[in-house]
Amino acid sequence: MNRYWTLADGPLPRWPRPDTFALRTSDIPVPGPGQALTRTIYVSLDPYQWGYKRRGAEPRGGPCHARTVSEVLESRMDGFKAGDYVFNTNGWSEYALMGEGVAYPSYMIPRRLDPTKGKISHAVGVLGMLGLTAYAGLTVLAYPRAGETVVVSAASGGVGQIAGQLARIAGARVVGVAGRREKCDYVVKELGFDACVSHLGDDLATSLAEACPDGVDVYFENVGGAVFEAVLPLFNPGARMTICGLIAHYGDEDGADARGDLMKRGQKIFADRNVNVSDLFVGDFVASHQDRFFEEIGPLVASGAVRYREDVREGFETIPEAFIEMLDGRNFGKILVRVSDDRTGSG
Ligand code: NDP
Repeated sequence: MNRYWTLADGPLPRWPRPDTFALRTSDIPVPGPGQALTRTIYVSLDPYQWGYKRRGAEPRGGPCHARTVSEVLESRMDGFKAGDYVFNTNGWSEYALMGEGVAYPSYMIPRRLDPTKGKISHAVGVLGMLGLTAYAGLTVLAYPRAGETVVVSAASGGVGQIAGQLARIAGARVVGVAGRREKCDYVVKELGFDACVSHLGDDLATSLAEACPDGVDVYFENVGGAVFEAVLPLFNPGARMTICGLIAHYGDEDGADARGDLMKRGQKIFADRNVNVSDLFVGDFVASHQDRFFEEIGPLVASGAVRYREDVREGFETIPEAFIEMLDGRNFGKILVRVSDDRTGSG
């Protein structure tokens, strides 16, 4: 039998609870022409998945959506054979089909992975959509220059840790914003950020201003809310801000417009100081930048020049709990769940 997690019946709460999800079983599917059967190894948990569910974008009844790393068990799909490791989108399901009849956005097209070149789990992190998100949002849209000050929120997370390191490599002064002290210590001591401020402290605005004595030239926005409020008065003339995500608002009331509210709050300062605000959608950069990004970042990850912390949870049963903990800041690094053996030995 196959097991999968789906959304339980009824309206969704603002933030997920254990009873938001239900465990179901089904037969293991049989691949038809153009399809392959895959066994899920790693399930990627990402904040956007909650926004996606709350917008009603996820059809009810099937497995919850997620990017995954899997092993091909049986294939009738060109270019894939049994034993291949793949990036795909099995969701919160132990087994799933890929190929014919499964629709993929541009940044989720299945691809074969080479386990001799590094961890297969990186395909849902630094060497996948999250890495490309950081690269597009930081390097392409915000183009930090040597000596400028770059602030990155959710700094120890899947996207933030890469964005900050790319800014450091560009010669910028990098200031992270994160939660617990150990996360802040990590981004400074392990990732080489120049400073990191906790948003859990009493006076974020003052702490951030002290950490950015020359103002802020680039803000990589992952969360919104109080962190945005603290960055806003610090923008220098000609600053760039990339709106990558607004995690703090993924549980807002239905109909709320977090991005619109943020733009209204910033309107005067954006206009007076000529701050350029860019919205980021990673799918727009796949065709133009993904290959270049993999070529540039792959060797840096392999050599350790770019570091990447994963928070790997164990067991299919733990997926809902891990998802809830991530939205609550209780992950430390890119969170993923190992739901079956990683036989490459790279895990
Ligand atoms: P993370 O791995 O960073 O996990 C979420 C983290 O957000 C938590 O660990 C927590 O860290 C922090 N957080 C949660 N709530 C708050 C809050 N209210 N205030 C401040 N921090 C909070 O997530 P990802 O790196 O995977 O994702 C980062 C962002 O990138 C998200 O907004 C996501 O939606 C977005 N994204 C956007 C894409 C695009 O195309 N635009 C593509 C992919 C991702 P801490 O303990 O440090 O507070």
